[in-house]
Formats: sequence, structure tokens, C-alpha cells
Amino acid sequence: MRVAHAEGTSPQRWAQHHLRHLELWTRDADRALPTSTMSTLAAHLGCSMDSITALSVDTGLDDRQPRCHAGVEPWITAVGLFHRIRHLHGLQYCPACLAEEPYFRRLWRLAFVTHCPVHHRVLLDGCVRCDAPIVPHRHERLPTHCPICGMDLAHPTISGEPTDDTTMAYVSQSSWLNAQSTRRFALGTASIPWHDALKGCRALIAVHRCSLTQTLRMLPPRSGVFEAQRVGLRMATMQWLHRVLAHWPRAWLEDARRGHVTQRSFHRQASIPPWLQHALQFLHVGHTRDRWRRARAFQVHIRRLRQLRPPHWRTDHAQQFARWAP
Ligand SMILES: [Zn+2]
Ligand SMILES: [Zn+2]
Repeated sequence: MRVAHAEGTSPQRWAQHHLRHLELWTRDADRALPTSTMSTLAAHLGCSMDSITALSVDTGLDDRQPRCHAGVEPWITAVGLFHRIRHLHGLQYCPACLAEEPYFRRLWRLAFVTHCPVHHRVLLDGCVRCDAPIVPHRHERLPTHCPICGMDLAHPTISGEPTDDTTMAYVSQSSWLNAQSTRRFALGTASIPWHDALKGCRALIAVHRCSLTQTLRMLPPRSGVFEAQRVGLRMATMQWLHRVLAHWPRAWLEDARRGHVTQRSFHRQASIPPWLQHALQFLHVGHTRDRWRRARAFQVHIRRLRQLRPPHWRTDHAQQFARWAP
């Protein structure tokens, strides 16, 4: 984008001229691009493939993780791409950083990052005037302006107050960034590999998502996967994670028992690292629902209630079912 602006054109026109049919804006370029697009980009920009690859966000997960949700990569914030439109607030920014140097940092796409490590303030994830998701290439000439209302994202009036360095969210993020660079994660008094920590914490967040959002109350109960959540909810989730990991596994086991989490709750999680597997044995095994023995309604209008789920459908379903059942 900076090259396009330096050549006096918009990023979209530059890509149309140089890359032709290759996909750029229909992909989340911070995450990964097809090899053909990267090699063409490297040729036009006059740099090596390695430097183009280095522009992608590196979470530190050494093997390719199964997608937890369509279009979502673990630990990279989701932008909700549909054609060239971004529906989710996955691109975070710090107005003070943008004012100093007008480009979006790779760090801001990591899902566990919610604060600016330089200016110690909570990152923003939408336009302060219209709350639209940030899409830098959509603006004709100014990538640091909102493409919808034209608001300057680096405007000094939205700099905000610096966060206290001792807040739990900030302390938690600092330890995570430190672990990312050393590739070792401190778990209580032990030290575990970084990729094991990421896999285990991802499973913990996925299992506790519903109970967490209900506990926090300020947020809607159905708020999507962690990577697709707004910065406020991710920050609260990271604070919870920081608290349970600091006194692992005692603090987590208390929360898990209170939230009726069992070993069975983790059966959909693709990989569970040894440190989490060890703690899981202290939980109740759990049981499966026997779907074959569930009573089934043969009345079409009762079945439709279950399919369409109008308000209070469970009560209506139970009442009508009780009337028809022998
Ligand atoms: Zn900053
Ligand atoms: Zn706006």
C-alpha cells in the first residue's frame, strides 16, 4: 500500500495493474497469500520471497492447526472477509502509533494482543465515529482514515488515556509477548513449549466461552469464536486466562466444577497438550446424550418449532409434546 501511495495511485489500482487476476484483496493478506501472488509481489517490489513471507503474522504455532471455524486461523484476529468486504473488527490499531508512523503493525493482528506495548493504551478495533471495521486499502489515498466516514484514525483527540502498567490485562499481555519471543511459556512454576501453551489455552477458551460471556454479562451471550470477538471481550477473556493460569490447575478446576465442565466437554477439541491433559483427569468424566432414546415428535407443527426456534419455543415445544405424548 505504501508503494502504491508513493507511486501516486490507490492500492486497488496498483494491484489491478501489476497483479492482474491474482487474488489479493479477497484474501486476508496479513495471514497468508497464495505462493503465486507472493512471488509476483516480490518481483514487482524488487524484494526477496523471504521478506514478503515475513510480512505475515507469525503466531508461533509450528504445525498447521485445523480451522476452528470457517476462515478463522487460531490466535489471529478474524476480519470476516466476504469478497472484498470485511465484516468483523479484526484489525486493531493504536492512534498514537499511527500518528507516529502511518502503517498497521503485524502485532495488532494477534488475538491475545489488546494493548499497545509502546503507548500502554487499549487498542481500538473500529472507527471511533461510525464503528465500521478498519479496511486500510478501501480508502483511495489515506490508509489511516476510515473508508466509510473519512475519520482520521490517528487524530490526537482519540489518543485516549494510557493504561496503568499494573492492570491484569496489561501484565498478562506482556508475559504472553515475552513467551512468544522466547518460545517458552511460564505455567505456575513450570515452563512449557509456546505452541503447547497456545493449543491448550485455545481449548480452554473454546470450552469456557459460554460460561465466560454469561459471567461478564456486559456482552452478548453468542459472541462467536475468540478470534472473531471485539477487543473488550478478548481482553476480559485474557484476564480470566491469566488468573486461572497463575494458580494452575487449582484455580481452573474450581471454575470448571462451578461451570459444570467435564472431560467430555473437551471431546471436540482437536489437540490437547500434556499439561492440560494432566489437569483434565481431575474432572468428572461426563456422559454423552443418547440420541436414540430421545422421544421424537411425529406431529409436523411440533417438529417445526424445533427447526424454526421462535421466541419461547422450548416452553411451547414441551407443552405441545406433553399433550401429544402417550
Ligand atoms: Zn501505540
Ligand atoms: Zn468511520
